[in-house]
Amino acid sequence: MSPSMLNMSTIQELRDQLPDSIVLLPGSEEYRASIKRWSDGAEKPAALVILPITERDISTTLSFVQKHGMDLAVAGGGHSTSGAASTAGGLLLDLSRLRGVTVDPEARTVTAQGGALWEDVDTALGQHGLATVGGVVNHTGIGGLTLGGGYGWLTGLYGLTIDNLLSARIVLADGRILTTSPTLHPDLFWALRGAGHNFGVVTEFTFQAHEQKNEVFAGLLGFTPDKLEQVVGFANALVADEGQGGDGRSAIYCFLAVPPGAPRGTGPTILAAVVSITTEEEARRRFAPLLELNPVMDTLAMVPYCQVNAMLNGIAVHGDRKNTKGFSFAMPLRPGLARAVLTELGTILQEEPAWVKSYVVFEFGHLGKVAAVPRGEMAFANRSRCQNGVVQIWWMDAKDDARAGEKGRHLKALITAQAEKREGKEEGGAVVYSNFVETGDRSVEELFGENLDRLRLLKAKYDPTNLFNKTHPLVSRKDAGQLV
Ligand SMILES: Cc1cc2nc3c(=O)[nH]c(=O)nc-3n(C[C@H](O)[C@H](O)[C@H](O)COP(=O)(O)OP(=O)(O)OC[C@H]3O[C@@H](n4cnc5c(N)ncnc54)[C@H](O)[C@@H]3O)c2cc1C
Repeated sequence: MSPSMLNMSTIQELRDQLPDSIVLLPGSEEYRASIKRWSDGAEKPAALVILPITERDISTTLSFVQKHGMDLAVAGGGHSTSGAASTAGGLLLDLSRLRGVTVDPEARTVTAQGGALWEDVDTALGQHGLATVGGVVNHTGIGGLTLGGGYGWLTGLYGLTIDNLLSARIVLADGRILTTSPTLHPDLFWALRGAGHNFGVVTEFTFQAHEQKNEVFAGLLGFTPDKLEQVVGFANALVADEGQGGDGRSAIYCFLAVPPGAPRGTGPTILAAVVSITTEEEARRRFAPLLELNPVMDTLAMVPYCQVNAMLNGIAVHGDRKNTKGFSFAMPLRPGLARAVLTELGTILQEEPAWVKSYVVFEFGHLGKVAAVPRGEMAFANRSRCQNGVVQIWWMDAKDDARAGEKGRHLKALITAQAEKREGKEEGGAVVYSNFVETGDRSVEELFGENLDRLRLLKAKYDPTNLFNKTHPLVSRKDAGQLV
C-alpha cells in the first residue's frame, strides 16, 4: 500500500496518535537512511516508516497496520539478507531509536531496548567488568539475533544468548504489552527463545551477565593457502571435548576469504579469528601449534572483552549485495572438504573478480553448554553439537542477483552434502542455526523439528492474523522477502 493509497488525512490521523514517534514518508534523507540495510539487496521501499520510542506508540502503530490491512516489517539491526526487516509498500517499524541499555551490577543483569546493537550492550557491560553472550560482529542487532538463538565467543562458557535471557517485554499484534519470563506468560517466553520473530515487537530484553574483568586474548591470524589442512586439523582438535578448548574458553572461526586490502587478483586464503578467555600465557600454550605455522598476519593481543566483537567488523562491512547461505558441519571437519571449498571459492572469484569480499566461514566453538539444554526447554531446536558456517556471496550489481544466489547455493551444497549430518540423538531436532538461514531456504519443519507443533499452537494464540510473518513464518508466508 503506497502513501497515496493510504491517503494523507489517514497518515495525519496516525501522526496525531503517535506523540513520541517520528513518521517518515518516501523522499527524505531520513527515510532513505531508515530503509538502508546491511545488504543493499535487502532494501525495499516502505510506504510509511515509524520510529517509535514508547511501547504505547508501537501498540498504536500495530492497531493501525491491522485496521488498514497493511504489510508490516520490524527492523532491528537490519542484518537479515532476505529482506525480513523490510517491506515493499507496507509500514516499517524502525526500532533504531530504542537503543538504551541499563546494567544492574549487583544482580549482574543487563536490560537493553529492542533496537539496540551488540556494541551498545558490550560497551555498557564492559564499564562494570561484565559481559554476556552476544554476536561476534558488534553492529548486528540484539533483536533479530536474540530471537533466533544467538551464538558468540562466550557460548562455550555460557551457552546461547537465549540461554541467558531472563525476561522480555513485548507488544503483541492485538496491541497488548506484556512482560514474559519463566513465570510470566511462560508459554510465550518459551516461543520467543528461538522463534521470536514470529510473535511481536520485543521492546526490552533482560540478560544474565557474567564477570569479565580480565582482558582476553583475541585477534586475527592470516595463513597462506598451503596451511589449510593444518589449520583445520588444529581447529578440530581445539574444541573437541578432550581438546585445549574443551573447557569452552577458546574458539576459532576460520574464514576462507581474500584479506581486506589485498592487491587485485589475490586469491582467497585463510583468516583465523581467535579468542581465548584465558591469560596470554595460557592462550599462547593452547594456540602454539597454530602460531608455529608462521602466520603471515598476526594481530593477537590481550584486549578488553568489550572490544572483541569489533574484531570482525572490517570483514563484515555494510553495503553492496549479499546473500547468507548457512550450513552446519559435523565434527571433525574433513580438511579435504575445506580444500575443495577454498578451490571452488577461488574459481568463483576468478570468474567474478568484483565479488572479492565474498567469504565462507567455518566456526569452531565448544558446544557442550548448548547441547546440555534439553530441546523442549525452549523453541530453539538445534541442541546438536554441529558447528555453524556461512557462505556469504558478496556482489555489487542487482543484475547479478540470480547468479550470486546460484553460486551461494552451489558452495553451500558442496558442504552440506558431505558434512551436514544428523545423528541419532538429533532425531526430532534441528542441526542448522535458523538465523544463518534466509527465510524460505529451508522448511520450518527442518528448523524447528518437534517444537513446531507447539509453536503453531502458540502462534494461533498470540498472533492469529499472522502479522509477524517475515522470518521463518510458522504458518503461510505472506511476504517471501528477497531471496536470491
Ligand atoms: C555480519 C553478521 C554477523 C553475524 N554474527 C552472528 C553471530 O555472531 N551470532 C549469531 O547468533 N548470529 C549472527 N548473525 C546472524 C544474525 O543473528 C541475524 O542476521 C539476525 O537476524 C540479525 O539481527 P538484526 O536485528 O540485525 O536483523 P534485522 O534484519 O533487523 O531483523 C531480523 C529479523 O528479526 C526481527 N526483529 C529484529 N528486532 C526485533 C525486535 N526487537 N522485536 C521483534 N522482531 C525483531 C525483524 O523483524 C526480522 O524479522 C550475523 C549476521 C551478520 C550479517
